[in-house]
Amino acid sequence: MKGTHKRGRKTIILLFWMGIWQVAAVLADNPILLTGPVRVLRAFVENLLRPDFFPVVFHSLAGIGLGFFLALFAGVLLGAVAFSMVWVEEILAPVMTVLKSVPVASFVVLLLIWFGAGRLSLMISFLIVFPNVYVNTIAGLKSADRKLLEMARVFGMSRGRKLFYLYRPALLPYLEGCLRVSLGMSWKSGVAAEIIGLAESSLGERLYMAKIYLDTAGLFAWTITTVLVSFLFEKAVLRIFRQFAQWRPYPGFGLYEGFPAGISPKRDREAGDKIRMCHIDKTYNGQSVLRDLNLTMEAGGRYLLTAPSGAGKTTLLKILTGLEQGDRGEIAGMPDRIGMVFQEDRLCEEYDAVCNILLGMKTGGGKGRKKQLADYVRAQASAILPADCLTKPVRQLSGGMRRRVALLRALLSGADVLILDEPFTGLDEENRMRSAQYLMENLQGRTLLMSTHREEDAQLLQATRVTL
Ligand code: ADP
Repeated sequence: MKGTHKRGRKTIILLFWMGIWQVAAVLADNPILLTGPVRVLRAFVENLLRPDFFPVVFHSLAGIGLGFFLALFAGVLLGAVAFSMVWVEEILAPVMTVLKSVPVASFVVLLLIWFGAGRLSLMISFLIVFPNVYVNTIAGLKSADRKLLEMARVFGMSRGRKLFYLYRPALLPYLEGCLRVSLGMSWKSGVAAEIIGLAESSLGERLYMAKIYLDTAGLFAWTITTVLVSFLFEKAVLRIFRQFAQWRPYPGFGLYEGFPAGISPKRDREAGDKIRMCHIDKTYNGQSVLRDLNLTMEAGGRYLLTAPSGAGKTTLLKILTGLEQGDRGEIAGMPDRIGMVFQEDRLCEEYDAVCNILLGMKTGGGKGRKKQLADYVRAQASAILPADCLTKPVRQLSGGMRRRVALLRALLSGADVLILDEPFTGLDEENRMRSAQYLMENLQGRTLLMSTHREEDAQLLQATRVTL
């Protein structure tokens, strides 16, 4: 009802200005100097009925649209390359500065001399859009959450998954903003290029002809056509873009390498190597956090790091997983596959719990296999999470639910060692007990190192206490 009311008001305002325009045109009584909306509408309909109307529109659309899409493709590709290789960004920096600072008109004239009018609108549309997309791609990729990237490193996530699940969400808002600006710009500069280059059967040429014949109504009618086509083009591109942005498939690519260890069928792991930490030192800004730390963990053992806050528990776990480097000492026997709960949840916010858990696993092997794994995860997760929260984006879940998703991701990852940094933070007593029990049932002979500041957890997990 409110929407209808608003639309009605907008129509009245539009009609009011049309009325003013028409009155002004009648008073001016000079259709060359000021033509009225009625004449413009007539010219527009006449244009529409001409056999060459759609070829003209299509010609401009093809040139400017193709330039736009080529720029989008090249900008994202080159932006991604420059993001991963700093020297490429450095080499391209002067080119981008030139592209952004030289006036469009200079480019139009230069390209006209070099290549003629044939592909002028395509090239101009490309040159206007490309630097925008390039710069925004680099900025978007740089904005990817560093903590999530660390999580991906610990879980050994594939490059494809990182690209799709971590970099893509960071890139999309930048690209959307850039598309909004670039779409309008590509049309304005593309049609200007057509006018200067007198591109045959194009919107620009028709605008120019209208000027030559002092056909003001025609000029307005072709301008309206240009605005309409550019508006529809913008809507279509943004719609496709949003479809892509909303696409949230579960991970399922990559080669399937047999049942990930740690998930069904249940079995106890064969004892592997001991994990040894020898003479580890760590200092932050002159403050010693770990001093000559020595710890040996038996394969399949359960260890609980208990120490007050600030004693260095997280630091030690980070050194173990390679996220931090110790100043001295060495670590031996650390398995490749690590499942970790970090101090923070480090979840992919837009994706649901099942997807977040699957991201920690090695999946793949086609649709059937993907579904089988998703069903397995759903069944496992419902042991400690309400079923209805499994399919919501995790940003909508409570702190305690998110913590349990992080715990499930580590447990079901198929890792050989589990490193859990205060995994029960934010859980009430009942959920804490249930989660601890689930953890015990699903350890399956894996080595566990968990930090906590609660003494009772040692008893709960029947773990060996390690103090710092
Ligand atoms: P815990 O996990 O036991 O609470 P942490 O390992 O997080 O303790 O921190 C131990 C000490 O190291 C704290 O005093 C903390 O301020 C300091 N610290 C941790 N990480 C950094 C860092 N990246 N830079 C500087 N100081 C740090």
